[in-house]
Amino acid sequence: MIAADLVTGIQRLMELVEGATAVVPFTGAGISTECGIPDFRSPGGIWTKMRPIDFSEFLASQEMRDESWRRRFAMEEQFGAAKPGRGHRAIASLYQAGKVPGIITQNIDNLHQASGVAADRVVELHGNTTYAICLDCAKRYELSWVRQRYAAAGGRSPDCPDCGGHIKTATVSFGQAMPEDAMQRAQELAESSDLFIAVGSSLVVWPAAGFPLVAKRHGAKLVIINRDPTDFDDIADLVVHHDIGATLAPFIAQ
Ligand SMILES: [Zn+2]
Repeated sequence: MIAADLVTGIQRLMELVEGATAVVPFTGAGISTECGIPDFRSPGGIWTKMRPIDFSEFLASQEMRDESWRRRFAMEEQFGAAKPGRGHRAIASLYQAGKVPGIITQNIDNLHQASGVAADRVVELHGNTTYAICLDCAKRYELSWVRQRYAAAGGRSPDCPDCGGHIKTATVSFGQAMPEDAMQRAQELAESSDLFIAVGSSLVVWPAAGFPLVAKRHGAKLVIINRDPTDFDDIADLVVHHDIGATLAPFIAQ
């Protein structure tokens, strides 16, 4: 059912949340655009202007690793300054109220954690860009550390001092395998939810887009909140084609 207007959509969503015990939000780029994080995949987004660096290229070439870090530092103004938006805060409120066992996100911006959700309750399908890891020994490095080394070496990306492995943002790059643990946890969350809310995702990127179907197949009600129509609107119990922040703001605990 597509909500006729914003007020009707909010009202119906409140009823669904009220009647649910395990609300699982599934979030995409749309929830973070009001926080100043660009939607890389949208028309006019960064991936339409700049070809992404494939994981195999990152591994194969120092120049590609340097370029990858140059791009990441160029975006730090946006990522570093971003604060949780109304959608994140609404979800955090439901989490604090004990309604949300976990959040599945396609975003890499760390904003669910920044809104007060415990890191181990956020399942990141595409990783996290706010820190880095060694690809060989998995040691964590802060971006400030990488940036200092990078600058000191004249724009050359550092390798791990412990093992010599390459250091990369903790994101899942194009051509890089999906993290098995995150996929498994997302599957379990989807299966055990009784209300699955897809927020700000065009639901076109697979396998991530399969989770709403998993939830539905296991008996959950499905809500889609997205500015544009998605391929799953027909099977959703509620579809809201309005601004995400405006739709979720009433769920922020006062
Ligand atoms: Zn290492």
